[in-house]
Amino acid sequence: MEIFHLFNHPGKRSVNIDLHIHTTASDGSMTPAQVVEEAIQAGLSVISIADHDTTGGVAAALETRHAQEIVVVPGVEISASHPSGEVHILGYWMDYGNPAFQAFLERPRSTRVPRMIEMCRRLRGVGLQVRPEEVFEEAGGTDAVGRPHLARVLLAKGYVKDMEEAFRNYLTKGTPGYVKRVKNRTAEAIAMIHRFGGISVIAHPGLLEDPGLVDHLIREGVMGIEVLCHEHDREAVEKYSEIADRNGLLKTGGSDYHGDMLGKSFRLGDLKVPYEYYLALKEAKEKRTGVRDQAARCQKAGRH
Ligand SMILES: [Zn+2]
Ligand SMILES: [Zn+2]
Repeated sequence: MEIFHLFNHPGKRSVNIDLHIHTTASDGSMTPAQVVEEAIQAGLSVISIADHDTTGGVAAALETRHAQEIVVVPGVEISASHPSGEVHILGYWMDYGNPAFQAFLERPRSTRVPRMIEMCRRLRGVGLQVRPEEVFEEAGGTDAVGRPHLARVLLAKGYVKDMEEAFRNYLTKGTPGYVKRVKNRTAEAIAMIHRFGGISVIAHPGLLEDPGLVDHLIREGVMGIEVLCHEHDREAVEKYSEIADRNGLLKTGGSDYHGDMLGKSFRLGDLKVPYEYYLALKEAKEKRTGVRDQAARCQKAGRH
C-alpha cells in the first residue's frame, strides 16, 4: 500500500506540522513543489496538501525531490452544504485515486466553469469589464476556478484596491457578482471520505455561519475538528478542543495557507500545530486500515 511509507517519519519529533495547505491545484498561489520546499524551509515536519475539491496537487507534492525530508499527507478540503450552512470538510489519507472518489469530487467542480461565466456576465451588468477567459487564465488552467481568481483579476484591473474589497463589494452573497455554487452534502462528504479509508475533519469551525452545525456534523459521523487555525483566537481553540475531547474526536490544526493570496499576512510555520496531533491522526488511520484488513481477512476465511 502506497500510503504506508508516508507514515515513516524523518525523525524531527519536536517540530510543528500543518495539515491544511492549498496549492495551484485549487486557489493557492504556489505549486505543490514550492509548498513542499517552503514547508521544509519553515521547519515543518508534516504537511497536508488539502486543496478545494481536488487532489490534483497531492501526487506532485509526494514526488517532489525533497518530499523524503517531510511527511506529506494526502488531503482534500471538500466544500459541502448542509441545510443550515456551508461547511468545509477536510479528508486525510483516503484512497484518493479511486475513480468513484474522484467522480464524487468532480461533481460540483464540473459546475465551476459555467458559474464563473455567469459571475462575469453579472459583473459586466454593473459596469465591470471582466471576461471569463481572463479569470481562467488567472487560474492557470485549473478547473477549480473560483472567486479568489476573479478577485485577483478585479484587483489587477483596478476595480478594487484589495482582495477584501473585491469580496465585500462584488463576490459575496447579496452582491452583484455572487452566484451560488453547487455542492456535495456534508453527510455525503463524510461518508465518502470514510468509505475510501480516510479521516474526516471539520475545517476552521470558527468560520461556520451557524455554530450549531458542529453538533450536526458530529451526528453525521465526522472524526475530527481543526481546533488550531489562524481564524481561532485562544478562546475558540479552547472551545473546540473541549468539544473534541467531550465527543472523543481527533484534534487537528492547519494554516489554510494559500501563498500570498487573500491578503493574509502569515507565513508557513507561523501557526504552531503540535506533532502530537499528527500522531493521533496517524494512529486513527492505522486503526481504520487495521479494521479493514481484518475484515478482509475474515471475509477470505469465510467467517463473515
Ligand atoms: Zn476552508
Ligand atoms: Zn482551506
